[in-house]
Amino acid sequence: MKIQLASRFECTGCMACADACAHKAINIVIADDGHYYPRIEKSKCIECGLCMKSCPIISDFSYEREDKMSRPYAAWAKDDKIRSKSSSGGAFAAIAQQILQEGGIVIGVTIESSIAKHIAIESICELYKLQGSKYQQSKAVGIYQQALSYLKTGRKVLFSGTACQIAGLYAFLGKRTFKNLVTVDLICAGVPSRLPIDKFLCQKDFVEIVSYRDKVDGWGGCCLTVLNQSRKMVRKPLNGELVISSFSSSLTDRYSCFNCKFIGLYRKADITLADFWGDKDFKEEHRAGISLVIIHSLLGKNLVNTSDLKLYESTWEKCLLHNPRLVYGKVLMAKYRLERRLLGYFWGRKSLSFLLALYCGIYSNKLWYPYKVFKYLVWKYNMYVINKKLTEFISTLK
Ligand SMILES: Cc1cc2nc3c(=O)[nH]c(=O)nc-3n(C[C@H](O)[C@H](O)[C@H](O)COP(=O)(O)OP(=O)(O)OC[C@H]3O[C@@H](n4cnc5c(N)ncnc54)[C@H](O)[C@@H]3O)c2cc1C
Repeated sequence: MKIQLASRFECTGCMACADACAHKAINIVIADDGHYYPRIEKSKCIECGLCMKSCPIISDFSYEREDKMSRPYAAWAKDDKIRSKSSSGGAFAAIAQQILQEGGIVIGVTIESSIAKHIAIESICELYKLQGSKYQQSKAVGIYQQALSYLKTGRKVLFSGTACQIAGLYAFLGKRTFKNLVTVDLICAGVPSRLPIDKFLCQKDFVEIVSYRDKVDGWGGCCLTVLNQSRKMVRKPLNGELVISSFSSSLTDRYSCFNCKFIGLYRKADITLADFWGDKDFKEEHRAGISLVIIHSLLGKNLVNTSDLKLYESTWEKCLLHNPRLVYGKVLMAKYRLERRLLGYFWGRKSLSFLLALYCGIYSNKLWYPYKVFKYLVWKYNMYVINKKLTEFISTLK
């Protein structure tokens, strides 16, 4: 069998292929664009094809849920401590707490030495590690195997991650189904390259990224918290900052994010979480944050109902208007932009001020203004296309 994994334009970096390989013939490498890709070590490969079967892109895997019973809710954790440490309303932590109290395992993303990675936890005192969004791609290698071994013991497993990672888990499990598995995916803006992160850390003032988002300035404010040279925590304002600015611009995202195959209202995951951007019903809750919780299955419904959450039914219109990414993924044209195509070349050769202007929208002089205007027009066009598509889409829901 000829082994051919997803191309660089389609591979989501979920890493399920590496876990599926019994011969450890797939290594995960960081390519010149600062994204993770699988690389096959030919001398170890026996061409069994298991890696291809576990790839949610090239196998015949579908992430769409056929029963279409999904419903959106506005929610937040009743426990203020939990809520304050989370990016939106703390829905994830409330759900995770319920699983842990039932003696289950929770799998999610932590950050260690500025690298996001999936880990499994068994106790509530470790829950803080998984709270908060880490706006970089997490290293998920090994976690699918680990989840499988926990599932086989019969313990409840809550597996969280981006939709491509949940798709990776289901494709990895294949025909093996488990009643003790609950999955949580996210509405995702796409994952940025590691290049801005590594460049930021190279500047030497800061040695480690600790968190991407806190609520010191209220819900919605992103602020990098970093350790400085003397290992003191510092909140780094966004102005002139590489990491979050380049995440927001989306110009360094994985190619697969521009054409995400795992968007949609009806998903295989049991629950989808996001920020409830644009909420108008619970204004007094905005400072502390509101989660959008989409329940897709009965299993998801039971878990959410038993968790320590305030939960209010909402409508697709309300949650889609300010979060079209639920159904339209990311900016339509960025994939074809020269900035994305030449990512590896530019980050290796160009000055910091050039990179800040091109990828972060932070301009050091007026010569950049024509480019700024170009970017603004592209953005306007994208908004026009997305709003038009969204209006059409919402009218089909009525
Ligand atoms: C890369 C990325 C892009 C996102 N884009 C959007 C968006 O465009 N719109 C929107 O409304 N919401 C987006 N989110 C989700 C949002 O930031 C919150 O995670 C979500 O609202 C849940 O918040 P919470 O308060 O319930 O839980 P929190 O405690 O804030 O979130 C923790 C959950 O996020 C998971 N997680 C954290 N970092 C990662 C990661 N790097 N990869 C995979 N899973 C991770 C953890 O495993 C856990 O399940 C994004 C999240 C990530 C990681």
